[in-house]
Amino acid sequence: MGAVQVDGITKDYPGVRALDGVSFGVERGEIVGLLGPNGAGKTTLLKILTGALAPTAGRASLDGFDVVTDSLEVRRRLGYLPENAPVYPEMTPREYLAFMAAVRRVSGTTDRDRAIERCGIGDVLDRPIGQLSKGYRQRVGLAQAILHWPPILLLDEPTSGLDPQQIAEIRALILELGRQRTVILSSHILAEVEATCDRVVIIEGGHIRAGGTAAELAARLEHGSRLRVVVEGAPADQVAEALTALDGVDTAEPTADGALLLTTRRDVRADVFGRIVDRGWTLLELRADRLSLESVYLTLTGAAPPGAAGTGEES
Ligand code: ATP
Repeated sequence: MGAVQVDGITKDYPGVRALDGVSFGVERGEIVGLLGPNGAGKTTLLKILTGALAPTAGRASLDGFDVVTDSLEVRRRLGYLPENAPVYPEMTPREYLAFMAAVRRVSGTTDRDRAIERCGIGDVLDRPIGQLSKGYRQRVGLAQAILHWPPILLLDEPTSGLDPQQIAEIRALILELGRQRTVILSSHILAEVEATCDRVVIIEGGHIRAGGTAAELAARLEHGSRLRVVVEGAPADQVAEALTALDGVDTAEPTADGALLLTTRRDVRADVFGRIVDRGWTLLELRADRLSLESVYLTLTGAAPPGAAGTGEES
């Protein structure tokens, strides 16, 4: 049983099916990104996992506890950062965390002190939240989410609206928090998911389109991987002919900078190396040109044809 289990969740709003039979699991200790465009259903799914919203059909559980029937146990195990972290502009972080601790019946100050320290808000504890930068407000939101030291964290668009420096800081904090717990974060930003997540679940129009590591998703596309080779000692067309004759090489296209880009069905690096040496040519470069998560995403969500997202080193 995974830390989070989602089985056939459907959610209807009046006139809109926001989620349609969504299923996936998250193992303990994983950081998983829910990636999808605006309106894909990410927030709806996270709200269902918190127990705040009842699914129309299907089941979900956290650490084996059903989000509908065992919501008290679920809440105990869960920290949630909503998309727009609740802001009480007149409260200070100290007051806000004390308030949230009371709501969650967290006694003593040890857990609160630990959350404050981990989220780096010790210096702003007594300033009204309304006067803090968005980055610090997000840190206060994260401190609130980990106040009761939950094993599972749900973060809805944790870096939206932040500047690059703040984004880097919050990502580092998520990675740090993710070392000790299971994290699901939602995002419509590829770089976000690539930077912080072990695994990605791509969601669109209320459906799961794909799931896996960035490398697994890339491998699942028709042309599993690409190989960039630079060879000295023969004209490009001659090299291309020699390499496409290898089993597992589909095409060899010259690039503007004098390399050949091979599309391959299996790992052919050893064969490519052998063929070039056999011919007495010199291999200057041999490098896997992994499809980026971006091209996988664009392909799966139908936003662009395969291979349209560039040919350089992308990740
Ligand atoms: P975003 O990144 O824009 O928040 P999202 O992936 O989180 O998008 P949701 O907010 O879950 O998507 O919305 C999924 C769908 O459900 C959208 O079509 C949205 O308009 C609709 N929706 C969301 N909340 C409600 C609601 N309370 N009533 C009716 N429709 C809703």
